[in-house]
Amino acid sequence: MAEKLVIIGSGPAGWTAAIYAARANLQPLVFAGRPKTSPSLLLPGGQLMLTTEVENFPGFPHGVTGPKLMAFMEQQAVRFGARIRTDDGRTPDVSDPDDGHSFRYHDCKAVDLSCRPFKVIDEDDTVVEAHALIIATGATANWLGIPGEQRLATSGGGVSACAVCDGALPAFRNKELGVVGGGDSAVEEATYLTKFASKVYIIHRRDQLRASRIMQQRAMDNPKIEILWNKVPVEVLGEKQIEGVRLKDTKTGDVSVRPLGGLFMAIGHTPATAFLGGQLELDEKKYIRLADPYRSMTSVEGVFAAGDVVDSVYRQAITAAGMGCKAALDAERWLAERGIH
Ligand code: NAP
Repeated sequence: MAEKLVIIGSGPAGWTAAIYAARANLQPLVFAGRPKTSPSLLLPGGQLMLTTEVENFPGFPHGVTGPKLMAFMEQQAVRFGARIRTDDGRTPDVSDPDDGHSFRYHDCKAVDLSCRPFKVIDEDDTVVEAHALIIATGATANWLGIPGEQRLATSGGGVSACAVCDGALPAFRNKELGVVGGGDSAVEEATYLTKFASKVYIIHRRDQLRASRIMQQRAMDNPKIEILWNKVPVEVLGEKQIEGVRLKDTKTGDVSVRPLGGLFMAIGHTPATAFLGGQLELDEKKYIRLADPYRSMTSVEGVFAAGDVVDSVYRQAITAAGMGCKAALDAERWLAERGIH
């Protein structure tokens, strides 16, 4: 029998959609997906699994870690009847912190949106049929893939892909920090970091910023920002905590060491839309294009989308959660109109 609603994705958008859909008695099935943020992580949960302290999610006056926030959302969804696609079909006991580790959460490999009900094909080629779908697969921050980067990013060692999420942590106060990239994000994040840091270096691989004029001016005018032109990090140095980066000059090939107390990647994001196989309308940057920007409907009726997979602008846990709520309400109404309760 076809599922009423399948939710693909397990970040704030996916879990919030699952909470709302489960409370509406839709018993949603969640493809939580395999961890993409880092191979060393055991559990899914999207980009927040790579964040240490989340201080700006309302309701947590003393902050909460990214993985804990995701575990809370998952528990809340399961409590109301959401099911999670795992190896043995058993929804994990989310109150037991060790239980999830014995599972393989399932990835959705592909979808077929040309038929009704839709087909969701999982990584073992099992086909799940669904009347409605919510796509909340997010986007992943791009990383350089250099030695030391992931080890220090996953251990809270001062390497991050989100200055807004992590920059205000005490570990970065009054330190010299680095931001890699030359786009609007790099300038915006560097500017934000100057509130806490003693100095911020923008490390850019060319001799010209990609950022808009106004953002470039902002960087130039900020006495705490210095741009290191024609440089790429080739190694992050430090055992438990970042101590610096080894930089290569892209013009001369010269290698130098720059001591740093933190390193932030701002080299773009990649939305997880490849598995859709071109069946949903995407924008030029491969984010899902919503049929109405204020709602969650996509170019295919019955398919809804939420979170970073549609949003290249805000990319916050709270905005993703809000979109997940909208998608669940839209899906519930759409199913009800078709007599599926
Ligand atoms: P982006 O514009 O794609 O810029 C990415 C930057 O990272 C580029 O400067 C690129 O260098 C560099 N880069 C990419 N891969 C690299 C690598 N492997 N090694 C070293 N450097 C690498 O991404 P974004 O800055 O995240 O912006 C995304 C979109 O959001 C843009 O449309 C932007 O305008 C928008 N945005 C707007 C605001 C705002 O208006 N306030 C703020 C943030 C973002 P090259 O320049 O050499 O390609």
